[in-house]
Amino acid sequence: MISYKELGLVNTREMFAKALKGGYAIPAFNFNNMEQLQAIVQAAAELKSPVILQVSKGARNYANQTLLRYMAQGAVEFAKELGWERPQIALHLDHGDTFETCKSCVDFGFSSVMIDASSKPYEENVALTRQVVDYAHKYDVTVEAELGVLAGVEDEVSSEESHYTRPEEVIDFATRTGCDSLAISIGTSHGAYKFKPEQCTRDPKTGQLVPPPLAFDVLREIEKNLPGFPIVLHGSSSVPQEYVDMIHQYGGKLPDAIGIPEDQLRDAAKSAVCKINIDSDSRLAMTAAVRKVLAEKPGEFDPRKYLGPARDEMKKLYMHKIVNVLGSDGKAE
Ligand SMILES: [Zn+2]
Repeated sequence: MISYKELGLVNTREMFAKALKGGYAIPAFNFNNMEQLQAIVQAAAELKSPVILQVSKGARNYANQTLLRYMAQGAVEFAKELGWERPQIALHLDHGDTFETCKSCVDFGFSSVMIDASSKPYEENVALTRQVVDYAHKYDVTVEAELGVLAGVEDEVSSEESHYTRPEEVIDFATRTGCDSLAISIGTSHGAYKFKPEQCTRDPKTGQLVPPPLAFDVLREIEKNLPGFPIVLHGSSSVPQEYVDMIHQYGGKLPDAIGIPEDQLRDAAKSAVCKINIDSDSRLAMTAAVRKVLAEKPGEFDPRKYLGPARDEMKKLYMHKIVNVLGSDGKAE
């Protein structure tokens, strides 16, 4: 058993309380390799933004959970070296699907876990979430739960159809489970293909597809029922057109990739939404940068020469999100 406190990590309780009061949101960036982690830590440290390092089950399988834990511990030390005296970094399990997975993360130094039983019947979701909360809270680890179903594909998590969170369920759910934050479904979606073109309209000026707006009415109902309770948005990448264009320019193929417009996320960040998950955008930034180098310099075979630019591109993206979308810069001096 290793406590996250020994690793220099923090749970999400204070981060969320401050974000709610301040009208901004905490970035939750997924990572599964060193370059991504370097980019996240550099961006957060330079901007003094609290940050949640997110690990999915797929990432644990890919990178090995022992290595991931030491990488998170290394991230805290690296942040200090960059001049961030008191780094506010959480290590969070994304989409834990069983009690055992969540428990093993709590035991392994995670400061926060998500139990996602949203695909199960309501009462089963309540019971499983409660079980995880009871265990995690013994070690002061915070728990995110989910109500409602997001569409899209993210590692092992996938669903054909979404249904919005029912605002009438949230009080009962939060009270009975004791969860610390709640992921809701209001129209965001996992992956880089969030909408079908036929669901979108076309911007007459740019010719680009515009997805249907998020269900802010549902969000407002939830806020009214659970005042001051931290809300989480999954699947909140914006799929920047510049990266899609770059990927196409250098031989890739991402037909009809569509994300959530950043202005809507900016509005959400000012509400009770205090954690916004972004994964696909950094995948796109990394892929675009790697493709560019390899296309322009076919003789290049030193991975540092393409992973370095990929890291720089991701850092630029993370900084943009922190400053222009989440508003979390300067909130962890
Ligand atoms: Zn998710």
